[in-house]
Amino acid sequence: MTRQILVTAALPYANGHIHIGHLVEYIQTDIWVRFQKMRGHRCLFVCADDTHGTAIMIRARREGRSEEAVIADMREAHLRDFAGFQIEFDNYGSTNSPENRELCHQIWSAIRRRGLVRQKDVQQLYDPVVGTFLADRFVRGTCPRCGAADQPGDNCSSCSATYTPADLRDPRSVLSNAIPEIRTAEHLFIELEQLHDFLQQWSQEGITCSRKWHAI
Ligand SMILES: [Zn+2]
Repeated sequence: MTRQILVTAALPYANGHIHIGHLVEYIQTDIWVRFQKMRGHRCLFVCADDTHGTAIMIRARREGRSEEAVIADMREAHLRDFAGFQIEFDNYGSTNSPENRELCHQIWSAIRRRGLVRQKDVQQLYDPVVGTFLADRFVRGTCPRCGAADQPGDNCSSCSATYTPADLRDPRSVLSNAIPEIRTAEHLFIELEQLHDFLQQWSQEGITCSRKWHAI
């Protein structure tokens, strides 16, 4: 029986080059996909550049060019490296594409319609010099538990404590070395637990369920 198999691998981030750790995953996946195609199955290997994130925005700003220019260069480099290792995707897209925008819009609209979005204010560190909220890894400071200096914003490499960036003593923004301010930002959360039964069934059935997704 011919199986229909859809395969993907972790989307490489468009802020940096493909390294050997990435390649292990793509080469192994490519071998498996080739094997399935040789067995006569219809097997599609899809992947894309992940072009969204603060690091890309910061890099573009530092280099004095647009985010689009950064991600276009990185896409070219990624595709060249994948080709150099003979990794063959049936489709290699981008999260910054019209079709991804359309799909995200459809999914988000469906979730909104079902009332599964909850709005909540979250306190977050803000870099007043760069003018941006800071992800955990963009804050460093002294561990609130053991006092180790220059630790990342989410966990201590010395005593393994986990915390939020707001718990750090003497926090500094890695972008500007400014002292971050605590500001309130509105965040949107999806009530995923309400979809527990659907997701359990959908992820275990192993068949095409696009019709069911539209029914949400
Ligand atoms: Zn510590």
